[in-house]
Amino acid sequence: MTSESLAVRAKQLHVIRNRGLALQVCAPESWTEEEVNEATNSVHPTGIRSTWRVVDPMNGDARRVVCEEGCGRVHYVMVC
Ligand SMILES: [Zn+2]
Repeated sequence: MTSESLAVRAKQLHVIRNRGLALQVCAPESWTEEEVNEATNSVHPTGIRSTWRVVDPMNGDARRVVCEEGCGRVHYVMVC
C-alpha cells in the first residue's frame, strides 16, 4: 500500500482512449501496475465480472509508453 488513498489516486488517472474492451490510460510514472489497475477499475468500472488490467500491446518493453506531454506520466493499455 502507498500513502495515497485510492480516491486520491483515481483523480490522477485519465482515460485517454476507450475502445469498449480496451482502454488507454495516462497515469503518473511512479505508480505500479497494480495501482494503475486499481485506479482504472475505480474510475471506469467494467460493469462485468472481469476487471481492467494492464496488458502488453506489442512486447514486454512497450508496456509503458511515455506520455507525449512530458509531465512524468506514462500510458498503459488495459483490457478486461
Ligand atoms: Zn498522457
